[in-house]
Amino acid sequence: MDYLSGLNDQQHKAVTFQGGPLLLLAGAGSGKTRVITTRIAYLIDQLGFSPYSILAVTFTNKAAGEMRERVNSMVPGAENVMIKTFHSFGAWMLRRNGDSLGLKSSFTIYDDDDVNALIKSLVPTASRSEIKQFARDISRCKDDNLSPDDNLTHINSHPNFNNIYLRYEARLKEIGNVDFGDLISLPKKLLSTNKEISSRFQSRFKVILVDEYQDTNRAQFELLQNLTGEDTWVCVVGDDDQSIYKFRGAEVRNILDFDKMFPGTQVIKLEENYRSTGHILSIASAVVKNNLNRLGKTLWTSKGDGLKPTIKYLENGEAEAEFIASKLVDGDLNETAILYRTNAQSRQLESTFIRSGIPYKIIGTLRFYEREEIKDTLALLSFILNSKDEIAFRRVINKPVRGIGKTSLDKIILDSRNYDNDYLETILKTTLLKGKAKKGCTEFYDFISELKELDFTQDLGHFIRRVIEDSGLLDYHRSQDEAIGSGKVDNLEELINSSSKYSGDSALSDFLEAVELDQSSFNRDDEEDDTPKVTLITMHNTKGLEFDRVFITGMENGLFPRSEKLEDDDELEEERRLFYVSITRARKELCFTSCKSRILHGKFIDSSPSIFLGEIPEDFVIGDTPSNSNSFTNSTFKRGDNVYHDDYGSGYIIKVTDNGKHELVLVKFETGQVKQFIPEFSPLEKI
Ligand code: ATP
Ligand code: MG
Repeated sequence: MDYLSGLNDQQHKAVTFQGGPLLLLAGAGSGKTRVITTRIAYLIDQLGFSPYSILAVTFTNKAAGEMRERVNSMVPGAENVMIKTFHSFGAWMLRRNGDSLGLKSSFTIYDDDDVNALIKSLVPTASRSEIKQFARDISRCKDDNLSPDDNLTHINSHPNFNNIYLRYEARLKEIGNVDFGDLISLPKKLLSTNKEISSRFQSRFKVILVDEYQDTNRAQFELLQNLTGEDTWVCVVGDDDQSIYKFRGAEVRNILDFDKMFPGTQVIKLEENYRSTGHILSIASAVVKNNLNRLGKTLWTSKGDGLKPTIKYLENGEAEAEFIASKLVDGDLNETAILYRTNAQSRQLESTFIRSGIPYKIIGTLRFYEREEIKDTLALLSFILNSKDEIAFRRVINKPVRGIGKTSLDKIILDSRNYDNDYLETILKTTLLKGKAKKGCTEFYDFISELKELDFTQDLGHFIRRVIEDSGLLDYHRSQDEAIGSGKVDNLEELINSSSKYSGDSALSDFLEAVELDQSSFNRDDEEDDTPKVTLITMHNTKGLEFDRVFITGMENGLFPRSEKLEDDDELEEERRLFYVSITRARKELCFTSCKSRILHGKFIDSSPSIFLGEIPEDFVIGDTPSNSNSFTNSTFKRGDNVYHDDYGSGYIIKVTDNGKHELVLVKFETGQVKQFIPEFSPLEKI
């Protein structure tokens, strides 16, 4: 039982605890995931549980894969332990037991486009944005386990919403498919309404373990509740400080109220952090303390202080990428991760790394130029330059939908022989199309012809923006962002930004050529080879992971925290939890980067250092100061001054900086809130 030997007392207690319910509540890096894997091994190896009777639920497929490897390496014969995400477990269950709900085992899972099309067929008069709103709100209802019979005015106050939801459900059932939310809500329904199925499942899964429990939503919680019988050994592990998916319906309440929902819960806390060195941990603790809405936990390490993390201020995004590239010359790339708030930020890093020959991989998403919205736009631009480009034409003619299906497309391609393979000319002149397809082609022809007339030599960014807007691609991708928070519009903005340095007659072709070169160099390196690669990853995707060395980039107000989150305290606390998650990924080395300006909408915009940097105690970091600071020598405010603000009350100044134009002061109030102000524009008084 080697696997038990390194555990501390609390971990040992959790691993060997006989019974349930068990709640393991502990900070980052304290071994929660390790307890889950070791507990699985122990239950099989020492208590004689059949692997088949154990279900472990993780947050991502990647985490599930890692957990499987760990378990297999500890006990032989553990392959039959079921390790899945909530959604993949739900799909698995429905494929086997969905017949009583009228589902065939071959059902298809509808994606957002399918869902939108289905709603459109139910409410043909609704506008595109109304349809998206309905889709989003139906999905919200499913996350919250609300049915069309419930009062849903707090979700959507449209008088017909319940009816639309009802008809949507009926239609989906008729077709025999499911949407994403159904993968949780239908299994829950099966269990709560069908005694035979629920006793079968409860007698099969004698042990249920859930990792990252703080990010479960209402529907997932209820599914768990229905899977759990009186004798089930249920164990959940989580950290309220790491709850970062409220926008997807996750409820911190599920963790805070766990012992109310599962009476008799044994709560175990872990306090030793095994991942990070002392300074890193101190920073993480100091930052998260600014949140009022938390249980509060202690974490300590026996590892010693380790290296001091650093803060580096840079001129702009390009300089940031170059700085990081220069640091990557040393150290193990496989053990290095670069974190950012929005996917779009990967573009600059990718481009610099490609030029410097630094191998990288992106986790959880595609490389920038492989992303759907980017490929759509590039195809459209290529088609504007060359209307004989068949591949580009195929990609964009019916996206967003213009009524040109496969048959019409085949006809166009066939007929194009008569027009020198020029697809623009073909769609104008062909006589093979009728009805919707013909109308769609005219629409397409018109906007492409208009765009061809525009001058892009002065401002390519402006031109690309027009292309994205006029083609309907912007609306199309925006709707996906709203549904799943995918950041597609950010990516499109970033593509526009990246084009801003091209001008002159050949601006567009130069731009496309540069992109093409970037792309072809990716293709040369094979994802599967074992050259060490640095990891590029969004903060959200780093849950549960760890690296020796971590760079946290884009530490600027507006970017992180995102500007729309600054106003609302709850939202700001969620951003701060994301910061806490990010910091605690690092084992030994941590570096924050912040830029004085960023390109936004094709122009350099001044940015100010993230308020979160101001929450890092100076003793634990080596910071260079943002340049230009102290240029406000006649400043009336200085660090340590006591101040009063009409809205926030009394507090004291933690930091005085500037963004090159205005003085910025960071204040910590007695309420615990930390806010940044430009004193010139705010009612901040010295007291
Ligand atoms: P997170 O909240 O980030 O998911 P966690 O609580 O799940 O973190 P783990 O990933 O399980 O933490 O553990 C963090 C690191 O500490 C891992 O590398 C793990 O192997 C190591 N670790 C955990 N417990 C011990 C222990 N008792 N002795 C030595 N190393 C340990
Ligand atoms: Mg973990």
